[in-house]
Amino acid sequence: MSETSFTCQRCGHCCQGEGGIVMTGRDRNRLARHLGMDIPAMLDHCAETVSGKTRLRAGDDGYCIFFRHGQGCGVHQGRPDICRAWPYFRGNLLDASSWEMIQSDCPGVNAEAGHALFVREGVQYLQEHGLLHEAGPEAPHALVLCESLLRSKDT
Ligand code: SF4
Ligand code: SF4
Repeated sequence: MSETSFTCQRCGHCCQGEGGIVMTGRDRNRLARHLGMDIPAMLDHCAETVSGKTRLRAGDDGYCIFFRHGQGCGVHQGRPDICRAWPYFRGNLLDASSWEMIQSDCPGVNAEAGHALFVREGVQYLQEHGLLHEAGPEAPHALVLCESLLRSKDT
C-alpha cells in the first residue's frame, strides 16, 4: 500500500448497520436534489427519525438502503457528510487506539503509514472538502474537531 494514510478498498463494510448515517440539513438538501425529489419525499423514501435525529434507513440485508452489492454507494454524489468523512472521524484522529481498532473493519486504513500521518491527512481532507462542523444540535459529533486537532496538520 502506498504511503498515504487511507485508500478506500470499496469493501462496503462502512455501509453496513443501522442508525450510523445521521443527516444534517445540508445532507438532506443535497440528497433530495441528487434524487430529484423534494425533501419530504426523500425522507419518506429513505430516512427515519429516531430520538430527534434523521438518519438513513437500512435495508433487509442490514446495509444502508442505498448500498448496492458489487457496485458500492448508489447515491455517491449525494451521500451525506458522515459518509464522505469516514474514516477521518474525531475519535479516530484523537485516539491512536481507536485508529488501530478500525483497521479490522476498514481495510482502506494504512497501518504502516502511522497514526500521525492519518491525523495530518485527515484534518486536511476534512478542511478541503468542507466537512468540518461547528458544535450544535444537528452537528455530527464525529465531525466537530478541537483546536489542537485543527493545528495538528501543520506540525
Ligand atoms: S449513503 Fe452511500 S456511502 Fe453512505 S452509508 Fe449509504 S451506501 Fe454507504
Ligand atoms: S470500510 Fe473502509 S475500505 Fe471499506 S468501503 Fe468503507 S471506507 Fe472503504
